[in-house]
Amino acid sequence: MNAIVYADHAATAPLCTSAYQAMLPWLQDEYGNPSTAYVLGRNPRKAIASAREDIAGAIGASAKEIFFTSGGTEADNLAIKGTAFCYPARRRHLITSAIEHHAVLNTFAFLERLGYDVTYLPVDRFGNVSHEILRTAIRPETILISIMTANNEMGTVEPVSELARIAKEEGIPFHTDAVQAVGHMPIQVDELGVQMLSASAHKFGGPKGTGFLYVRKGTRLEPLIHGGGQENGLRSGTENVAGIVGMAAALKEQISMMQKNCSYLENLRERLLAHLLNMGADYLVNGSDRHIPGSVSISFRNTDAEMMMYCLDQMGIEVATGSACNSRETVVSHVVEAVGIPEEYARGTVRITLGPENTPEQIDYMATGIQKVLFRG
Ligand code: PLP
Repeated sequence: MNAIVYADHAATAPLCTSAYQAMLPWLQDEYGNPSTAYVLGRNPRKAIASAREDIAGAIGASAKEIFFTSGGTEADNLAIKGTAFCYPARRRHLITSAIEHHAVLNTFAFLERLGYDVTYLPVDRFGNVSHEILRTAIRPETILISIMTANNEMGTVEPVSELARIAKEEGIPFHTDAVQAVGHMPIQVDELGVQMLSASAHKFGGPKGTGFLYVRKGTRLEPLIHGGGQENGLRSGTENVAGIVGMAAALKEQISMMQKNCSYLENLRERLLAHLLNMGADYLVNGSDRHIPGSVSISFRNTDAEMMMYCLDQMGIEVATGSACNSRETVVSHVVEAVGIPEEYARGTVRITLGPENTPEQIDYMATGIQKVLFRG
């Protein structure tokens, strides 16, 4: 097999054809600035408005509640810092989980340096945040709860609607980083009950560098980027027209294919797990039964996942690890640590995230590759 077997869709997904085609006019011929009043500006303005309607419709929001950003990281920053900066100094407590993406964790770390107090909720061994633990963490001065919809390393889908219900009872805004979930599972903001939700186009077949933050009507939020007042004053800067149009096209396509993709990807996942079972390897399957379709985190006993990743790469198989090498040792990720994977398995944690272009033959090839690495065959 010559072609690359790409199994790292949680890192990024290939640009889908409909997004590519939808973007083309806005990259060259239709170059007008959407803020201008003449004809060259009107078409891009209309295209952005239509994309905003489509995206809002896809998640059950209204168009006025969608704010375009440069991706998931910026959407997370806007939700978290934008909320924190709205409150007076005496209300300075925020809650998140220990397994958030660094776009969230490092934003909270920054707020801690500014004097805010942050509680990092632990998770169980499947990666779930418990609503009982959330309840005990809430204080009178809590101003925000931010818990991801689905974890990028384990694929675990969090009980966001339950957690958001608690936040609502206490009158606290709830943000969810849904970067790994949007386009991969049904997302309706009213069902989730969240005030804010972050998404990123390149995780669902759209272009990189484009995303959005859903902000429920009436939510207080301080802008982080000041300038010409685009995005209703919440996020200034000339809009990435092609990116926004491509994101809307990709989301539409992903949603139309969701059911079909879900069963296809779960079948591929099962096929891979069946191979692993048959090869007699010693491993743990991490995460929860409620996971992103086609996503699996596996910890191999007494294995160096970084070494496995490099060996698989040599065979044209691209996967991710739950660890990173520094100069002398392999350091396991904060997620692997938080779910409490036993030491002898932790360093051998590999993340495989499949996409609709993967085939059963590729899964067989990947399994053979893993077997070769494990048994030096
Ligand atoms: N949040 C999660 C859960 C992610 O997986 C990622 C990207 O991997 C991000 C945020 C950051 O998104 P972006 O790459 O669009 O900045």
